[in-house]
Amino acid sequence: MKVFKFGGASVKTASAVKNVKSILDGFAKEKLFVVVSAMGKTTNAMEAIVSALYDKNFDLFCELVEDRKSFHIEIMDALFEDKKNPIFEEINTLFEDLKLMKKDRLVENYNFQYDQIVSLGEVLSSKIITAYLSTFQDDVCWRDARTFIRTNNDYRKAEVDWEKTKELMDIELNQPNCRVSITQGFVGHTEEGFTTTLGREGSDFSAGIIAYCTNAESVTIWKDVPGMLNADPKWFENTVKLDKISFREAIELAYYGASVIHPKTIKPLQNKNIPLYIKSFLAPAEPGTVIQASTENDALVPSFIFKVNQILLSICPKDFSFVVEENLSDIFKKLALSGAHINVMQNSAVSFSVCIDIDNFGLNRLIDLLKDEYDIKYNDNLELVTIRHYDQKTINRVTKGREILMEQKTRQTVRIVMRNLGEE
Ligand code: ASP
Repeated sequence: MKVFKFGGASVKTASAVKNVKSILDGFAKEKLFVVVSAMGKTTNAMEAIVSALYDKNFDLFCELVEDRKSFHIEIMDALFEDKKNPIFEEINTLFEDLKLMKKDRLVENYNFQYDQIVSLGEVLSSKIITAYLSTFQDDVCWRDARTFIRTNNDYRKAEVDWEKTKELMDIELNQPNCRVSITQGFVGHTEEGFTTTLGREGSDFSAGIIAYCTNAESVTIWKDVPGMLNADPKWFENTVKLDKISFREAIELAYYGASVIHPKTIKPLQNKNIPLYIKSFLAPAEPGTVIQASTENDALVPSFIFKVNQILLSICPKDFSFVVEENLSDIFKKLALSGAHINVMQNSAVSFSVCIDIDNFGLNRLIDLLKDEYDIKYNDNLELVTIRHYDQKTINRVTKGREILMEQKTRQTVRIVMRNLGEE
């Protein structure tokens, strides 16, 4: 069986859904498990619906629900000639049920409620796509990830119970006459049967979970880019597609911030040696990128990962004591408490420097937590570039017109924190 994943952009309009059908038609003899995301920007829209509900702004809540309903109905109108297709009634009922929520007493647990509502984006898209495909063929079935992906009840960032999921998927796959299964990315369920979500952008990970638990032959993520590029075209000219890279390389690139695949997707696939293809849904015949076990191609092309809005903090104990394990563990605890995401660290005898992602609120909190015991200096609005398989030429290319504030090199990777002098 092959596992496919189609993200929000690949199902954002009726013609995009038709394009998904034509891609699937190219695999007419294969058993497929297709994971779909919510259509277009529906997850963001669902988040706004939850916020309106909790702000008790019911007019806005109703308006946003109506808006999402029209968005889906417009797509269905263009997909289904037969306006009596039961899918219209089914989708209508889902939205009517959602509207009733405002009458219910809101549960205190925001994250719980978020998952019950936001997951509807994937439920809607998987239902519409299944119904559409079913008008052409009878070997398609809708599968509900809320019955076979088992998680803990850490709502909005639920952790998968791999053993149980494998068991439930074995049962699920026994369903006969179903060559093409359509299911939701991003969602799972707790032992008690409540819906959970796996974290934003989690549908890639769902594909990885399903492939792992069913020993699939491969996973293909269909994207609006030709494959995994060696840099984000937003920041770099002359990007190159990586034809073939290892699991290790892919997980490093995803960790450093390459946004093509969700970082959690690689581990289950590496563990079972299941290749991952990244292909363009606009040019499905093109080979794309394959991520697999062999490392021989990794060093052929340097990759660049660029992050902006970085803060470089330097933290020095006020009493001039060495930066050692005791105060480091104190600093780490405070970084975690303030919601900082650490990107690069370096220390000297009496100073610890750390490049972080943090919002203003978190930064003020961090400074408050540290200021009694440490002198703190920081620079903001910095850039962090990571180059895999660097050489001096690539370093010169990215540091042109920049002041380097911190640099860290290993054999494969250089990370440079810098200030863009052109912006001053
Ligand atoms: N729809 C979810 C999101 O936008 C999950 C996904 O598409 O990966 O975050």
